Amino acid sequence: MLKENLETVREQVKEACERAGRDAGKVTVLAVSKTKPNADIEELYAAGQRDFGENYVQELKEKHETLPKDIRWHMIGHLQRNKVKYIAPFVYMIHSVDSVSLADTIEKEAAKNNRSIPVLIEVNAAHEDTKFGVTPDELPALAAHIESLPHVELAGLMTSAPYTEHPEENRQYFRMLAELAVDMNLQSVNNEKGPVLSMGMSNDYIVAAEEGSTCVRVGTSIFGARDYSKS
Ligand SMILES: *Cc1c(COP(=O)(O)O)cnc(C)c1O
Repeated sequence: MLKENLETVREQVKEACERAGRDAGKVTVLAVSKTKPNADIEELYAAGQRDFGENYVQELKEKHETLPKDIRWHMIGHLQRNKVKYIAPFVYMIHSVDSVSLADTIEKEAAKNNRSIPVLIEVNAAHEDTKFGVTPDELPALAAHIESLPHVELAGLMTSAPYTEHPEENRQYFRMLAELAVDMNLQSVNNEKGPVLSMGMSNDYIVAAEEGSTCVRVGTSIFGARDYSKS
């Protein structure tokens, strides 16, 4: 069943890309597995899925230890500096960098592990009080700082648009993120693959794919509703 859900999401992304004249091959469907059991992840893994997203460091670390080693683990949740060390050895990409101090901690832990860690800057595109992320005004300074760090690779931008029943309302934020990535005009995000634009969740990933998302983060539409009472 999860496999069918994933296929439906892929199909919707493909159709959105066709409407927008984009190459659907450029869009990663990130399966957001937070709170979901290993059995669910294994089912999707058997169907070929390799990119999984998690929000909580402890859960991410445990899943990485138990599940197949070729899974690409994306940290998408708010990250505390004192927890970076637990994921630095293996994390594939950190989507939620929103301060110089967090970037500096990632630099230190990446260096200790002799690696470079790809990161995205989280942008609070709708200026929501409840959301993490930098404002568009703060973006250039943080981007310039990250570009100066030898073990942190600035790969692009991420945003979480407001929750809405009407995904069309979020189109403006996705468009803004795509424009910000172009405006930044930084060496590191203008490689041949172009910048990563991590945007679009279950309720709005279709609009995000139309607006240039290269990574949709989909939980509920693949795994079903989350039950937080057990965790
Ligand atoms: C939980 C979460 C998602 C997935 O949300 P769904 O609505 O279940 O698809 C995506 N991005 C972030 C940052 C999340 O925390």
